[in-house]
Amino acid sequence: MPEHVVIIGSGPAGWAAAIYAARANLKPLVFEGAITEENRVNGTLPLGQLALTTEVENYPGFPTGQLDQFLKTAIDESRLQMMPPAATEPHAVEGPELMELMRQQAVNFGTRVITDDVIKIELGAQPFVVATRQGQAVQTLTLIIATGARANYLGLPSEQEYKNRGVSACAVCDGALPRFRNRPVVVVGGGDSAIEEASYLTKYASVVYLVHRRDELRASRIMRERAVNNRKIEIVWSHVVEQVVGNPRDGMTAVRLRSTKDESARELAATGMFLAIGHTPNTGFLNHQLALTDKGYIVLPEPFRTWTSVAGVFAAGDVADDYYRQAITSAGSGCRAALDAERYLALHDEA
Ligand code: NAP
Repeated sequence: MPEHVVIIGSGPAGWAAAIYAARANLKPLVFEGAITEENRVNGTLPLGQLALTTEVENYPGFPTGQLDQFLKTAIDESRLQMMPPAATEPHAVEGPELMELMRQQAVNFGTRVITDDVIKIELGAQPFVVATRQGQAVQTLTLIIATGARANYLGLPSEQEYKNRGVSACAVCDGALPRFRNRPVVVVGGGDSAIEEASYLTKYASVVYLVHRRDELRASRIMRERAVNNRKIEIVWSHVVEQVVGNPRDGMTAVRLRSTKDESARELAATGMFLAIGHTPNTGFLNHQLALTDKGYIVLPEPFRTWTSVAGVFAAGDVADDYYRQAITSAGSGCRAALDAERYLALHDEA
């Protein structure tokens, strides 16, 4: 028997879709991704991008408070052990905490979870087929794609050379490493993510250089003010990184910068470079069986609907949204995708 609903992805969109589909008795199956070094380096581990962030101050329903007791009672013991210890002082919900809570909520309603990567799907005929890296193949009547997006890199050969030896796209994952402690580090980008990364890194680094290619930040006002008011953040305006400098013994030691105003170049000593220059949607495994935008995002042909170019396939979250990209908007679209899948099944007498 084919599944009713298969959900690929385990960020807010995936779990919201699972919660709604499970409560509608559709017994959803979620492929949450595999826990591998490759996924760690690519920023595609289970639980999505929120699992790579610190406090989430803008998710409704989670004001700053004493969350540790709530976490202990809400989340399964086996999962709690895998998380960093919950802060005991009042705090806003941490990204990984929020994701574990969503996962648990989906599991509580009967969602089944497979911890593996989907590497191929077949959408040519119904039921669709979903194939995983470990060789599992599952048939399904509907599919919700919620695979999100991953951090971009600059694309420099030297950047590749020093990945994991100074170069990272996740301050929360790597910022506490000894090589960054009390040393200067660089963050590249001028958006909210760049400021969030830079602020986080000030806990460890001696100084954080925020290298931005223009002379104006893209970030929201509150984040801009945060950067300007933080004495450990130094903004390097109108520059791009053109080379990561280092050696085999020490890893990365500096970046070579080029001015976007006058082409002049200079070197900045730093043991780390953190990229925060936007994202690429995780749609490679679709092999162009769905209509995609020129940036690779899934096209949703009708505004406010989650159906895609193939009937029975729905998309939710950042994989189909290069505009809002918020936890709350992703979760909202996951809910809509589940409702759309439920209605599609009812219409075809398969619910
Ligand atoms: P973003 O807003 O698209 O910003 C990307 C930044 O990287 C821009 O400043 C861009 O420069 C720069 N950039 C892009 N390509 C580059 C390249 N090749 N070389 C050098 N610089 C490059 O992305 P984001 O900061 O990841 O934010 C994405 C969304 O998530 C936004 O909606 C944001 O509000 C949201 N978000 C919110 C929070 C929060 O509220 N706490 C935290 C994180 C993210 P230009 O400005 O010149 O284009």
